[in-house]
Amino acid sequence: MASSTLVWLRNDLRIADNPALAAALKHEEPVHAVYVLETDRGLRRPGGAAKVWLHKSLEALNGDLAARGVRLSYREGESGKIIPDMARETKAGRVYWNRRYDPAGRGHDGAIKKELKCDGVAVESFNGSLLVEPWDIATQQGTPYGVFTPFWKALRDKPIPEPIGRIEKHGAITAPALDFDGPPGWADGILKRWAIGEDAAKRVLSDFLDDLLADYPNDRDLPRKDGTSRMSPHLRFGEIGPRQIWFAVRHLIDSKPSMAGAGETFLSEVAWREFSYHLLYHRDDIARHSMQGRFDEIEWRTDTKALHAWQKGQTGIPIIDAGMRQLWQTGWMHNRVRMLTASLLTKNLLIDWRKGENWFWDTLVDADPANNPASWQWVAGSGADAAPYFRIFNPVTQGEKFDPGGDYVREWVPELKDLPDKWVHKPWLADAGTLDKAGLKLGTTYPEPIVELKASRERALDTLKR
Ligand code: FAD
Repeated sequence: MASSTLVWLRNDLRIADNPALAAALKHEEPVHAVYVLETDRGLRRPGGAAKVWLHKSLEALNGDLAARGVRLSYREGESGKIIPDMARETKAGRVYWNRRYDPAGRGHDGAIKKELKCDGVAVESFNGSLLVEPWDIATQQGTPYGVFTPFWKALRDKPIPEPIGRIEKHGAITAPALDFDGPPGWADGILKRWAIGEDAAKRVLSDFLDDLLADYPNDRDLPRKDGTSRMSPHLRFGEIGPRQIWFAVRHLIDSKPSMAGAGETFLSEVAWREFSYHLLYHRDDIARHSMQGRFDEIEWRTDTKALHAWQKGQTGIPIIDAGMRQLWQTGWMHNRVRMLTASLLTKNLLIDWRKGENWFWDTLVDADPANNPASWQWVAGSGADAAPYFRIFNPVTQGEKFDPGGDYVREWVPELKDLPDKWVHKPWLADAGTLDKAGLKLGTTYPEPIVELKASRERALDTLKR
């Protein structure tokens, strides 16, 4: 009986270095691919911004797959039902996928594997999204890592497999229409700013390595500069894999040894992603439970008004508002400002980190099941390798340090654009004449700060100490 291979695509929306796809294309038989927007209980669905990215990315991949003779289908529903059904429909003798690492997803994949095997289908899974999978790296005691630096040292010494080279092509087919609605109206700000898909991901990486990497160690903390790679949404959806990045940087260092320092700094950030996945795999549902259980005993404040002001970039604290508006309008926020906005929410406002994590989940194009909760817990202090609870960022001094001329604030909070540099991070301290000259009426054209920074810091220290 004629047979085929079904590739279940998840966070691996690329052709190059895609182990499940490469393995499928080695066989002579037809290859089908499917992406399922899963509605199964217990699985986390992509938020609004990520879904916009996902659909665009699938459109790009659809053409690339068709050129290799692979027909892509898009489904929404329970993968526990859809995958076995599709395997039957396509008479698949084999089903391949690249692995995921969240406990719920893994349990789910295990059940599907079992069912397929009962139907006589061969199932294989691969590593498509990590340099080193969580069970292949452990401390000398054989336990999972809880601290980043030793994890990074161990990771550097691991043999990282080279990306998969050229893959086989079957005859081209016409790309099928994918069955989803076009992007919602609010997605324009995102679509305007990003090129989405595998080709774009490769271009972004090579431009970054050519133009920005040398200054990355200095510029990466300055939100006004385009000093970071902006690879995060591409990595999130697997339009590029970390092995491709790893080897591109290593080859660059080999040909240009002066780039060694900057290259290592960049790879260590990519390793934070690996570390987040290590935690996602080894810990219990990190988007729901604090990694340090005592943090789940904190009496977080319920303050809907403050939460809304934070979400909409109306806190009256310029660097916070700039970050939250950048997020809302573009689906991305600079890392330094992510730390500051998360710190204001969880410390000064004492609002549960899960509320912030959820907002980011819905609004970030790079909203990642490992990086987002792990980073939120890092800032909140509840994470495995978190900053100690008494380290509370001051958004004014941080703003003055990392956005010294206030350019970032002026870009995203235009109400403040005419304020002198001295006051741009603390307009509430400027005198009436200065505010007048800048056309600013606090409480009318721009909010008064929703929280007093010093007193709220004390309150946070007090609560956290208890
Ligand atoms: P670069 O500096 O160019 O780094 C390259 C890559 O390394 C990134 O694309 C990312 O994959 C990885 N990386 C860099 N910094 C970190 C980090 N601190 N932790 C984990 N991985 C890192 N990153 C996400 O990808 N998705 C998220 O949902 C996410 N949520 C965050 C929430 C908070 C509260 C904080 C403080 C950080 C969060 N981060 C998240 C981490 C980091 O802010 C982003 O990865 C980074 O800003 C993306 O920009 P870039 O690609 O230009 O980064």
